[in-house]
Amino acid sequence: MSGFQLTVLGTRGSIPVTGRDKIRFGGATSCYMVQAGEQTVFLDGGSGLVDAPLDFDVPPAILLSHLHLDHVLGLGMYRRLSQKDCRTDLYVPAGAGENALDSLYAPPFWPLKLTGYAGDVRIHTMPASLRIGDVRVDAIPGDHPGGCLVMKLSFEGKTLVYATDQEPSETSFGTLASFAKDADLLMFDGQFTEEEAEVRKGFGHSSPSKGIELMDACGAKQLLLIHHDPARTDAALEEMERRTGRSNVRFARAGETIRI
Ligand SMILES: [Zn+2]
Ligand SMILES: [Zn+2]
Repeated sequence: MSGFQLTVLGTRGSIPVTGRDKIRFGGATSCYMVQAGEQTVFLDGGSGLVDAPLDFDVPPAILLSHLHLDHVLGLGMYRRLSQKDCRTDLYVPAGAGENALDSLYAPPFWPLKLTGYAGDVRIHTMPASLRIGDVRVDAIPGDHPGGCLVMKLSFEGKTLVYATDQEPSETSFGTLASFAKDADLLMFDGQFTEEEAEVRKGFGHSSPSKGIELMDACGAKQLLLIHHDPARTDAALEEMERRTGRSNVRFARAGETIRI
């Protein structure tokens, strides 16, 4: 495989949902697969991770933006973790600590720890910058209750910025815009409608107009709105997308692949 591309595995915020009115955008929670040459990097381990491929030429890495349930829900049922001798590197935000997932993935909530699976699961603290194969990863703290990392992946001169679960303040908006400068693909939290964003201040999420403001401020080429509200139907998401009035602004659809 060559090139740099993103496959959407899970788009929802908060909790997985099902229903005939939630087919096109999907019902699984936050998980995105980035392929950069031979290297695979997963952004978050929400329930969408359960549908991810299991075998890779080079061990994959899973980067967690933060540990809210919708971003870690798929880890325990990702079958690669049970494949003997298969290495998977899992990066946890520094503030949380390497053992933080043990509070969830251990009895009485789960039968065993993630490091207790048959596979070779290695948990690391996420540094401010690291290299995974030929992919460079940079991370900065974002604005969300309890914190949430914003990550930038760079490969062969192209960049993808993953800014899920964000409600930027006036100050942090500028920091975010310089971090995302000239991104080829900007992924941003579009959970709320404009009306909801007005009344749900402090919940840690944004609306499409904030994403477009950020896109214009940083000069990103494409904006992918993510972290869909669990109650939002396909028709409602399509209407929100149409209202943005921009051809380079989309809401993420489960299963789609975007070339970066
Ligand atoms: Zn979330
Ligand atoms: Zn969150």
